[in-house]
Amino acid sequence: MLLSVVIPLLNEEDNIQLLYDELKEVLVSLEDKHEIIFIDDGSTDRSLTILEEIQAGDDNVTIVSFRRNFGQTAAMAAGFDYARGEVIITMDADLQNDPHDIPLLLQKVREGYDVVTGWRHDRKDAFINRKLPSMIANKIISLTTGVSLHDYGCTLKAFHKDVIKCVKLYGEMHRFIPAIASGMGIDFTEVKVNHRARRFGATKYGISRTLRVVLDLLTVKFLLSYATRPIQVFGLMGVLSGGLGVAIAAVLTVQKQFFGVPLGDRPLLLLAVMLIFIGFQFITMGLLAELQARTYHEAQNKPVYHVRRVIGDKKFARVDNEEPVSS
Ligand code: UDP
Ligand code: MG
Repeated sequence: MLLSVVIPLLNEEDNIQLLYDELKEVLVSLEDKHEIIFIDDGSTDRSLTILEEIQAGDDNVTIVSFRRNFGQTAAMAAGFDYARGEVIITMDADLQNDPHDIPLLLQKVREGYDVVTGWRHDRKDAFINRKLPSMIANKIISLTTGVSLHDYGCTLKAFHKDVIKCVKLYGEMHRFIPAIASGMGIDFTEVKVNHRARRFGATKYGISRTLRVVLDLLTVKFLLSYATRPIQVFGLMGVLSGGLGVAIAAVLTVQKQFFGVPLGDRPLLLLAVMLIFIGFQFITMGLLAELQARTYHEAQNKPVYHVRRVIGDKKFARVDNEEPVSS
């Protein structure tokens, strides 16, 4: 089995060599072959030079160097594009994740899980601006996606390549891969991993990340539940809003026609008109979204289903089933 370790980094000059040494030690102790893919996300310090020195001495190292800073999620996406392994492991470059946890993740992958995520049960970060918001965010994510993990933010994760192939990443989405994958019917689990305080360099994020994560969650929730049937969300909202508007308008009409109640000073009339308008808007938006959903799936050849395997039909058997995976 080939392992690909994907490591996005931005200005981590003091961490890279230490990380590489520690990681390499763990990787050579495994019986699997490995490759390490560093994604230099537009570093402005000596990170790239140090990476090049490491690469010169190790054929299993690949460096993907970005033209500018595109963000951690984009860096991971690049890593996935260049990874050739059966199993892909992601981790931070700042030594906060412990490479010695990798065998633990691999063991779970061998047990048959497609996604194994790390849980920083003893997280070494500031409480008020990091751990607390992330506790709240984790709860919200669990509740909305129906995936119950303790820690979505931990970068140390292992994925089967089939999962990665199907997931496109945008925004701050890398933490939602398990949630997105759950929509594919993937088997996932989590393991407790070691977390260490940052010794060198500074964190690249502040409190504002929590808000961005929550906004991304909205997208994920929508993609998970309604991406293939948007009219069912927008249409429902449209019908409710439009229906209420029509009902109010009907009452007002009856009052005006049969009881002579003047309409000029009734705010309800405004409300009715607004609700009807919004109702129409929602329904047309739903229809447009239906068109979009078709473009989305068909332009990318993205199926609306995910097959685990096909039994008995040679022609449609999954390509990677032709080379049996050694377990
Ligand atoms: N990182 C990156 N691009 C960015 C921001 C961060 O590649 O735009 C990398 C960073 O070098 C580190 C990892 O992503 O390897 C996690 O970042 P950080 O340690 O700042 O996040 P925290 O651990 O504080 O959540
Ligand atoms: Mg960190």
